[in-house]
Amino acid sequence: MKRKIVTIPDKVLRMKSKRIGYVDDSIRKLAEDMAQTASAWDRESEIGAAIAAIQVGEPIKLTAVRNNFEDYRDKSFVSFINPEIVKASPEKVTDIEGCLSVPGIYGRVARHKKIKVKAYDLDMKEVRLTLEGFPARLFQHEIDHMNGIIFLDHVASPKDLLEIDDAGRLHPLSADQAAELGQQASNHG
Ligand SMILES: [Zn+2]
Repeated sequence: MKRKIVTIPDKVLRMKSKRIGYVDDSIRKLAEDMAQTASAWDRESEIGAAIAAIQVGEPIKLTAVRNNFEDYRDKSFVSFINPEIVKASPEKVTDIEGCLSVPGIYGRVARHKKIKVKAYDLDMKEVRLTLEGFPARLFQHEIDHMNGIIFLDHVASPKDLLEIDDAGRLHPLSADQAAELGQQASNHG
């Protein structure tokens, strides 16, 4: 079942998510719904690469991540429970990032280039991941969601905000739009 995506400025996005102790049917169902919700968002120029449970209003540490970043016709997702970064490279990379909860807006965000993540699968079996590039960025973004942080909080300057048009092209935001989004980033907690 597709769920409604919570978008800014909804304060729900600022909630801290709780660790999951065990997986029951409601969590399995939620994981499925999240995957459907993210892939239903796919359009010509944008794809739903991942989604955190808080983005459908559930403050628990669960994320559904696209299985295949090379071929977006593949609509399968993998779920990760209680993900945490156990090691991060000091080196950071800046790239453009978007979010299902911040529709139409992109921003330049610096993220650790490489990270090691510890998480659990839906059988509560421990999973260890060594990530670099886009998947590393994506996990940092999803773990942020679990701590009530959205990517706008990391955008250093209004000049680093962009909007996407119907053709999928990115444009700088007007000063007014940028100021309004900046406001939301500072309304933390
Ligand atoms: Zn997001």
